[in-house]
Amino acid sequence: MSRYWSPFVHNLVPYVPGEQPKMPDLVKLNTNENPYGPSPRVNEAIAGQLGDGLRLYPDPSSDALKGTIARYHGVRSNHVFVGNGSDEVLAHIFQGLFGHGKPLLFPDVTYSFYPVYCGLYGIEPKPVPLDDDFRIHPDMFQGECSGIIFPNPNAPTGRLLPLSDIETILKAHPDVVVVVDEAYVDFGGETAIGLVDQYSNLLVTQTLSKSRSLAGLRVGFAVGHPDLIEALERIKNSFNSYPIDRLALAGAIAAYEDEEHFQSTRKAVMAERSRVTEGLEALGFRVLPSSANFVFTEHPDHEGADIAGHLREHGIIVRHFNKPRIGNFLRITIGNPEQNGRLLATLGDIL
Ligand code: PMP
Repeated sequence: MSRYWSPFVHNLVPYVPGEQPKMPDLVKLNTNENPYGPSPRVNEAIAGQLGDGLRLYPDPSSDALKGTIARYHGVRSNHVFVGNGSDEVLAHIFQGLFGHGKPLLFPDVTYSFYPVYCGLYGIEPKPVPLDDDFRIHPDMFQGECSGIIFPNPNAPTGRLLPLSDIETILKAHPDVVVVVDEAYVDFGGETAIGLVDQYSNLLVTQTLSKSRSLAGLRVGFAVGHPDLIEALERIKNSFNSYPIDRLALAGAIAAYEDEEHFQSTRKAVMAERSRVTEGLEALGFRVLPSSANFVFTEHPDHEGADIAGHLREHGIIVRHFNKPRIGNFLRITIGNPEQNGRLLATLGDIL
């Protein structure tokens, strides 16, 4: 420990991001990026901001982007909060809405940023076990808590919870905020945004990183009751009044103006997901049903870590988690047809 560190920093257990290797010819299937790239309109919109656009501060309230998201999802602008990627939106949610002496409930196998934010903001984490098939059950969240959070579809499992089960959870916990993290919802899920008018304790988060292929731009948002949004605005304005820069604002708005690109690329990812699933099953893998842009899979005769190591030697990177319960699994991002073909052919050779 550096003598300049506070004990708080010394005790932090930070999130370990997925590897971002520099070698250009790697098949990178480890961080759930979208292989098809953003709409060309995004590039044009960003180019239009260069020069004077960089000299000026951006709109601190990101009104144009909030309006675009609100119109797209059929809500009002005061239902929308935007941030620098959904990770930042989640950070504000954790800081402003969870804790106050009661634990936060989330599935035991889920997005590993949740326990990290608990550590950062002094919230007691209470992981709740998924069933043997890695499913969330609406009645598994029990006991006193300050909130509930889960991704839908869940990550890294890819499993989807129907909206009727989300309503059961919302009804059972009317006094705490329930956050549905929909980072992957556009690959086969159904958004819970339509429920925000009915349930004032619901916050839905989404990102432009996955289905809109803008992980590098860092834009995410939350939709919920104006009271919850107001809390997030207070936190944001106490932290960074200009979180969304001008390039990101322009690019994000342009992404929503190209529905055709959005639909065709997300459908291409889903079609490739079916092909990868069939290919893996033909090689003896067990593949969990996925509604996301990745599959979660294990082989009965081979260690996950070994397979990941062999794939890496062949220039293909997938995610392996060194954790209880899921140590034998691989999370494989769905790539483009060529990348997926190389993945399946390489697995066929090394198994
Ligand atoms: N939620 C989940 C479940 C994720 O997997 C991710 C991506 N790592 C995020 C949120 C954050 O995405 P971003 O910050 O790129 O919006």
